[in-house]
Amino acid sequence: LSQLFRPLDLLGMVYRTIRQGLIDMEAMFGLIDTPAEIVDVPNALPLIVGEGVVRFENVSFAYDKDRQILHGVDFEIPAGGTLAVVGPSGAGKSTLARLLFRFYDTTGGRITIDGQDIAKVSQASLRAAIGIVPQDTVLFNDTIGYNIAYGREGSTQDQVEDAARGAAIHGFIASLPDQYSAKVGERGLKLSGGEKQRVAIARTLLKNPPILILDEATSALDSRTEAEIQTTLKAIAARRSTIVIAHRLSTIVDADEIVVLEAGRVCERGTHATLLAKNGLYAEMWMRQAAEHDLEAMAAAE
Ligand code: ATP
Repeated sequence: LSQLFRPLDLLGMVYRTIRQGLIDMEAMFGLIDTPAEIVDVPNALPLIVGEGVVRFENVSFAYDKDRQILHGVDFEIPAGGTLAVVGPSGAGKSTLARLLFRFYDTTGGRITIDGQDIAKVSQASLRAAIGIVPQDTVLFNDTIGYNIAYGREGSTQDQVEDAARGAAIHGFIASLPDQYSAKVGERGLKLSGGEKQRVAIARTLLKNPPILILDEATSALDSRTEAEIQTTLKAIAARRSTIVIAHRLSTIVDADEIVVLEAGRVCERGTHATLLAKNGLYAEMWMRQAAEHDLEAMAAAE
């Protein structure tokens, strides 16, 4: 009888994997609507990543044709370097990440990786080259080991544990009664925001992509967890071309370039020091965050 059920099991697994993959993807990008169908061009070639230079060239975009979100955005993520994008809520920062992952096609301009237009290469090869640490990681109702191993098909237990160590979550997992077999999700272990983010980091370490998108969480973690996560993120961003969508400016002071986006347009750009000297929107945001930080520190000290 078990012979009879095996194909059904397999089918169930395939269905579950696809469905969960989609849920993960949607949650990753905070999508409510189903995105327009993105298809490979006929005979699409695989993306070949060399140095990993990512360029946005005069990129425009609209979700709905009567409301333009991005207007001629230009920037470059240098090979192995970090570009940070900051700006008010709704400016279009996460939209840039969605376009790089080709969740949507640009409506004007193009995005290239090492000179190859991302709309012309196969989606599978594009997505294999990009790792994302999203704002909110969705975990599958499965073991914590499975949730990490998902980063790379066919990974071994040793590789999973190495990735967990790199993401500083191995110690926590080892302390659980079921260790890597501990179930997470609705009926299992509830992980904190910081722990979930570490799982996402471990997944990304396993995937080992040359290009990285870090979408910083808006909801603040406690400051110690925050500092520890930042240290881990810095380590995984080293030697990878990284775009950071940042909400806390203190995390991006070392970025090679900071792009300030306002209403879908780049309104300022430069390093932290040059932007402060400009006394524009970035400097204003910096002063405001510094003042908020002082208030929080004062409140904590009371
Ligand atoms: P935040 O800092 O609040 O995360 P953001 O700068 O990342 O904001 P985006 O998420 O890129 O902003 O959104 C830019 C604009 O696009 C917003 O006005 C938003 O309402 C709109 N938008 C985002 N997703 C969709 C969608 N799927 N369909 C239609 N409009 C959308």
